[in-house]
Amino acid sequence: MTNEELRNSLLRAPKNGYAEMTDEQRKAMNDYCKRYAAFMDACKTEREATAWTVEAAERNGFKALVPGMQLQPGDRVYRNNRDKSIMLAVIGSAPINDGANICAAHTDSPRMDLKPNPMYEDSEIAYFKTHYYGGIKKYQWPTVALAIHGVVCKADGTKVTVTIGEDDNDPVLVVSDLLIHLSADQMKKTLAEGIVAEQLNVILGTEPLQGEGSDLVKLHVMKLLNEKYGIVEDDFCSAELTIVPAGKCREVGLDRSLLGAYGHDDRVCAYAQIESMFSLGTPKHTAVCILADKEEIGSVGVSGMKSQAFDTFMQDICDSLGGSLNRCFENSFCLSADVTNAFDPNFAETCDKRNNSLLNYGIAIAKYTGARGKSGASDASAEAMFHVRKVFGDANVQWQTATMGKVDQGGGGTVAAYMANRNIVTVDAGVPVLCMHAPMELVSKFDCYTTLLACKAIYEA
Ligand code: MN
Ligand code: MN
Repeated sequence: MTNEELRNSLLRAPKNGYAEMTDEQRKAMNDYCKRYAAFMDACKTEREATAWTVEAAERNGFKALVPGMQLQPGDRVYRNNRDKSIMLAVIGSAPINDGANICAAHTDSPRMDLKPNPMYEDSEIAYFKTHYYGGIKKYQWPTVALAIHGVVCKADGTKVTVTIGEDDNDPVLVVSDLLIHLSADQMKKTLAEGIVAEQLNVILGTEPLQGEGSDLVKLHVMKLLNEKYGIVEDDFCSAELTIVPAGKCREVGLDRSLLGAYGHDDRVCAYAQIESMFSLGTPKHTAVCILADKEEIGSVGVSGMKSQAFDTFMQDICDSLGGSLNRCFENSFCLSADVTNAFDPNFAETCDKRNNSLLNYGIAIAKYTGARGKSGASDASAEAMFHVRKVFGDANVQWQTATMGKVDQGGGGTVAAYMANRNIVTVDAGVPVLCMHAPMELVSKFDCYTTLLACKAIYEA
């Protein structure tokens, strides 16, 4: 054999996704990305993603799962976990004890939540005090347009939904930063200290009501909120109001090959799961989709992946089908669909380029995540990795491998370990992202589209 023949038969030869793209594939990719962008514009919090998915699921023939319900192959069921997380299933033709094909993503993203007593006035400016949620670089959040999203449970027992800053006629909110002219001291600080958590105070207004008092700006803002939403200051204690970047998902780059938005992590995988779920007929194995909350703070709480809400949902399905939850889990497979870091030449020194995912090379499979010596990872087995490779290969899904940067540079986790702890074989895979956790994150359209195909392939395996 010539070296060329040897090379072709022995060595890896990854290709950019555009290298062999047909017009048909390009159209399918662009159409999918338009639908994804619309989802992103409608959903900036886990609550909004859950509400959106419930409505879309109902339109697509899914019914709320009731314990003891009769289930047949092809039946479509879902459970809304307290408006914060949602699980969906399409019943397969094989016995449930043969296992389910699960895809798990999360719909919460890093942001700034309001503190329980958030509103104050200082120097005739009214503010909200915030407490950041998830891992953020605090310096990235001042001087960008922000919106409020959330709900308030009022004293009378009613609940009101709040969204300010997304409509073109809405005002937006901003956290201030110091002018460069007076930043001699600030510029000597580290990036971690240049803006600190207690400076992430959102400007609400500056116009005082006429009259006497030191709270006339705050009073004015509270009056406006009361007129629009019927809330009073005490109601903030029973509210979930969160500050997120304002604005829509945009095409990025002169060639429009990227999508820029707040919270691709992890709604980009969540949306791929939803669409692929809706496209299923009757799969062989029961297909299960979970869109979890609280991943960014450790998958904790009643709506996080560690919650028994998932086990209860699966138990109810097993009961209806005369199966055993333990047998089902033991034979199940889970794709923990979460984003990874795309290689960024601007920060090449942080990555092992040979092992990092690249934009436009397809969904990225991660054998392990975690930090240091793989701490916190579920570290998939050779057999589990083979399963994914085989399923993606058979379905013609372009994929690549991924690691989270250089060893000892940092790291991250996903819901994978919590699925694996349930005795479910689990592998991480997802969309490579530039500037993850920033107010605007970037993903490639091609990678988004391959993630849709990947989730569908897992469900149909
Ligand atoms: Mn994530
Ligand atoms: Mn994240």
